[in-house]
Amino acid sequence: MNEYLKKVLNGVREKNLYEPEYLQAVEEVLTSIEPVINQHPEYEKIALLERMIEPERIVIFRVPYVMDNGQTVVHRGYRVQFSSLIGPYKGGLRFHPSVNQSIIKFLGFEQIFKNALTGLPIGGGKGGSDFDPKGKSDDEIMRFCQSFMTELQRHIGQDIDIPAGDIGVGEREIGYLFGQYKRIKDIYEGGVLTGKGLSYGGSLVRKEATGFGLIYFMREMLAENKQSLAGKTVTISGAGNVAIYACQKALEYGANVVAMSDSKGCIYDKNGIDLNLIKQIKEVERGRIFEYLKKHPKAEYIECNGEVSPIWEIKTDIALPCATQNEVTLNAAKRLAENGAIAVGEGANMPCTKEAAEYLINNGILLAPSKAANAGGVAISAVEMSQNSMRYYLSFDEVDKKLNEIMTNIFKSCKSAANQYNLGNNYTAGANIAAFNKLAQAMIAQGIV
Ligand code: NDP
Repeated sequence: MNEYLKKVLNGVREKNLYEPEYLQAVEEVLTSIEPVINQHPEYEKIALLERMIEPERIVIFRVPYVMDNGQTVVHRGYRVQFSSLIGPYKGGLRFHPSVNQSIIKFLGFEQIFKNALTGLPIGGGKGGSDFDPKGKSDDEIMRFCQSFMTELQRHIGQDIDIPAGDIGVGEREIGYLFGQYKRIKDIYEGGVLTGKGLSYGGSLVRKEATGFGLIYFMREMLAENKQSLAGKTVTISGAGNVAIYACQKALEYGANVVAMSDSKGCIYDKNGIDLNLIKQIKEVERGRIFEYLKKHPKAEYIECNGEVSPIWEIKTDIALPCATQNEVTLNAAKRLAENGAIAVGEGANMPCTKEAAEYLINNGILLAPSKAANAGGVAISAVEMSQNSMRYYLSFDEVDKKLNEIMTNIFKSCKSAANQYNLGNNYTAGANIAAFNKLAQAMIAQGIV
């Protein structure tokens, strides 16, 4: 391995010993850009890589709130402002009990590259809390969001840092966060958060954008390899925002989606998933996926209890992991290959472990990497910010057309970087290289900062 890369990798491992997800994300990027680093020995003197992997700042704060039963609970809030190289910090907020500094840093790091790939002027950031919204009342969610924003508001602004949703943070949470921001700041700063409701500054297609974008990217990747979605069997993990709209677009393209899941188990309905029912259970009732059986008793419910999620045991042509990081392990990747999968599209961030991703690529299974394939959400967030600045709204078709163009261009960038370095169908390396080259140029232009 290139000596400079080796030095940086050893340094990052030593400094971040207890942050496995962050190390995984950095290692994936650094190892795949080796051909570029070999061509640019001058990067070492200006510590280009060391500066790229070190967040500009991390804010950690206390978030106390009172539960309905009167008990006060304290959670930890985070905002990683990773890079403002090509625009204000931009990235979602995750509310999930697993949230810690490693997870927020890995997501923030990935976000820099993803945002660079969109071609839009947005830097990288991420935040969240170890708060679990599941099972909480609306009032509890509101009080938590208000407490979270009471601190976060010091650090954000429409030209500084623009958070959005992620796991556990949807339109309801964004509404409460926005209301509290506006109240404290006494200003209507429409572009300070994205993923807003349509009644107060949200954009059409933002809700659908990540899932639709994933399928647009998949369509391009399949077409490049003389395939299409029509008639293909598809399995999708998760039943949240990304999974639901990926399912909708896959169905529109003539695929047969047979399975979806949540963290407890998966539904297998070989006649095709009833998406309206999934939306009702997840978006309206905020229920569990096994409730699907009440209306479709012939479908199967399989509980998660091993290392390989049951959804990856189901025979499929295309697998779309849309739940969380590292949900596709090496064994899961092997099961997908044994069952004849031709493509995997990463809707979630880093859903394949490093070993799983390598296995898929080495075994000729097309892999749409998350940084590129799920960039549609943040891209349309940037379009939401533009609309807020213009004080003007675009129609559904206008935004959807933009999303389609952006995803097609992202695929082209990944393909052309992969071609340039003779990497075949390794679109993961292609995405990393295309984004890295853009960021490196901006870094050099802006001097040592
Ligand atoms: P949601 O909260 O809407 O849905 C998350 C889904 O994943 C739920 O079905 C949830 O099940 C499941 N899930 C969450 N954590 C786990 C876990 N540890 N194990 C198994 N299943 C789990 O989130 P989103 O759909 O917004 O996000 C999903 C993924 O997509 C994340 O990786 C996120 O970072 C990524 N992403 C999201 C974007 C967006 O615009 N929303 C943009 C780009 C990426 P349960 O309800 O049981 O917890």
